[in-house]
Amino acid sequence: MNRRIRQLFPALQQRINGQPLSYLDSAATSQKPAPVIAAVQQFYRRDNANVHRAGYTLAARATAQFEQARATVAGHFGMPATNLVWTKGCTEAINLVAFSWALEQLSENDVVLVSGLEHHANLLPWQQVCRAKGARLVIVPVLATGELDLDAYRTLLAQQPKLVAVAHVSNVLGTVNPVAEMIDQAHQVGAKVLVDGAQAAAHLSVDVGQLNADFYTFSGHKMYGPTGIGGVLMSTEAMDACVPWQTGGEMVEQVSYQDASWASAPHCFEAGTPNIAGAIGLASAVQFLQQLPSNWQQQEAELLDYAKAKLNAIEGIELVGETPQQVAVQSFISRQIHPHDLAHYLDQAGVSVRLGKHCAHPLLAALGHESTLRLSLACYSNQQDIDQLVAAIELAVEAQH
Ligand code: PLP
Repeated sequence: MNRRIRQLFPALQQRINGQPLSYLDSAATSQKPAPVIAAVQQFYRRDNANVHRAGYTLAARATAQFEQARATVAGHFGMPATNLVWTKGCTEAINLVAFSWALEQLSENDVVLVSGLEHHANLLPWQQVCRAKGARLVIVPVLATGELDLDAYRTLLAQQPKLVAVAHVSNVLGTVNPVAEMIDQAHQVGAKVLVDGAQAAAHLSVDVGQLNADFYTFSGHKMYGPTGIGGVLMSTEAMDACVPWQTGGEMVEQVSYQDASWASAPHCFEAGTPNIAGAIGLASAVQFLQQLPSNWQQQEAELLDYAKAKLNAIEGIELVGETPQQVAVQSFISRQIHPHDLAHYLDQAGVSVRLGKHCAHPLLAALGHESTLRLSLACYSNQQDIDQLVAAIELAVEAQH
């Protein structure tokens, strides 16, 4: 089945440096299947017009497709269309919550509790808002295994934070955090919870309504959709507490020289022309995900186990993190070869992996690593990708002798 899926991805059919492309950086961005590329093309070739602004046929078509995309994507996450605000991605979605919710809701000495394994996108906006409001940023520690210290989390909740911000899945270690339980515990002390779903959406079935998250953010390009589109799903209560953070066209009802009134939510949080083609492409990506064979998550998990076993067997390779709940992301280091040299060597062998601190400097420091290599899988990944990676590392190790 994997061969059929893989054939849908044109970019995977090429050779890099004379070798088949082994693309192992899907956590950075996934490749795009042909139906998504076709949906974007079709919009620009046939239906292109601005949305919500004109009554002519093309504009009506564009608006209908754009709003249908909102319903499709929100529905995929178990939420009504009106609870989805489009953004250009997960980073912007978290900033939206920081500046349209937190800036309004936080007061001096309030606590914002952020997990210690966050991508900078889910840390820096909280630093900024806490600085602006004189609030306190408190970090949930990470264990050496790469799991959150949940005992410490429960203890820190006694400080009655206004907000808890946590990734559903770590982009460095693949750790799946027990967000349902964490949300439940946070709600018991009156905190709102933002879950950064950037790395979860391509690997897990997520029902935001059932999770009961107040804010759930995601990026389209990490779940087979185009770049420049993503969003935040908000509970109605959380959305009601937000104020527009950007102003201009599209988000207003009435405007005079001195004053303005806002359109209803979610439109009041979407100033300016949105990424219409991106939203339509993302709806197509969601349909692609929904049509995957029912065992695709199992196949990804088996491939991750295969990769871990193969890497473990190579002299000098060390896996980073040891989390029982993990999706298809794995960091590793070589004890003999500098990560930069190894990554360069792998590229020569047609293998794309991510190198560095993965936009998570504090986590890397907490784990005691300068930088790591990271492989990340997707529904199109196969054993050949892993075998190519492993063969290239083995050659690099041999060359050191
Ligand atoms: N959160 C996590 C966990 C991520 O892995 C990333 C990107 O890698 C982001 C947020 C930011 O996503 P984007 O750059 O698409 O806004």
